[in-house]
Amino acid sequence: MISPDGVRTAADLRAVVQALRDHEHFVMCAHEKPDADVIGSGLALGLALRSLGKDVRYYLDDEVPRNLRFLPDSDRTQRTLTGVHPDALYVFLDMSDQARAGDALRSVAPARIVNIDHHLGNQRFGGWNYVVDTEAATGVLVLNVIAALGCSLTPDIATCLLTAIISDTGCFMYSSAGPATLRLAAALVTLGADKDRITEQLYQTRSYSGQKILGRVLEDFKLTEDGICYATVSQELLRTYGAGHEDLEDIVGALRAVEHAEVAALFKESPDGTYRLSLRSRGRVNVMAVAKALGGGGHFRAAGATLPGPLDAALQRFLAAVRAEMAARSGAE
Ligand code: 5GP
Ligand code: MN
Repeated sequence: MISPDGVRTAADLRAVVQALRDHEHFVMCAHEKPDADVIGSGLALGLALRSLGKDVRYYLDDEVPRNLRFLPDSDRTQRTLTGVHPDALYVFLDMSDQARAGDALRSVAPARIVNIDHHLGNQRFGGWNYVVDTEAATGVLVLNVIAALGCSLTPDIATCLLTAIISDTGCFMYSSAGPATLRLAAALVTLGADKDRITEQLYQTRSYSGQKILGRVLEDFKLTEDGICYATVSQELLRTYGAGHEDLEDIVGALRAVEHAEVAALFKESPDGTYRLSLRSRGRVNVMAVAKALGGGGHFRAAGATLPGPLDAALQRFLAAVRAEMAARSGAE
């Protein structure tokens, strides 16, 4: 029997689909530091809406990461809102709150927002909200939307969606990738999704400087007695290799792979002296709670936050937050 949550979700999906049918102009909105889930989801939904003859723009406050520029329509993204129709609906994807989309979208009214997301604690900030926090990727939710719209799942759309799903499940390694997710992925491959290209781009192509920095991180990381594995990438190191934050994609995953690491963290210094913190968990410690305590958010096993410098103070705050979460967890057991 369908659960009360399932009933609400089905109604939410219907309402979102109706809103998409009823409008002609759209902006697909990505969160800051866009990842493969938000980009793949936005491009897939944009392609589907364009196939219905609708006007679609793709807005992001950043460049498309280099390894995602193979995706169809990725060359049509824009970094300003110029040319957006006054009646456009803004489709916010893969973000728990509106602020994650950056300053330019902070004042968009709820009545113009469609919110499609899978984060725990999503604030349902849109006029229409389709949120399933148990789903592995926003891409899965977008697949449901596209299917309910009755659009054809072309190989291009399938490639965008599979990119989202592969990335947000850590290439199917996370426990979020159960039988249903694997079956969906198989269906997308059958529809023509280019699995080989996706995995090549996401996992077998790292920039020269990114690979060198990975070497330095593996050389320098610390592992505490209580299983906290962390490392820092300074602006100076980035300058040495002519690298940027996008060259650091998933270096934190290499820290989580260290035996006995329960929580892995990478501190990435920004030009303004703040630190972007990427957190990963082996599965026992809720790093979303840690990130929240530090002003950020995310998922149980993958989360992030921005911390002010200096580095020492940021490290101490981080260690204290992880230990508080570990203590709360052992207290609850
Ligand atoms: P990453 O380490 O890949 O940058 O981020 C991992 C996940 O944490 C993202 O998918 C996102 O869900 C979440 N996340 C990262 N940074 C932030 C942040 O500053 N605020 C919130 N709410 N979530 C974040
Ligand atoms: Mn996601």
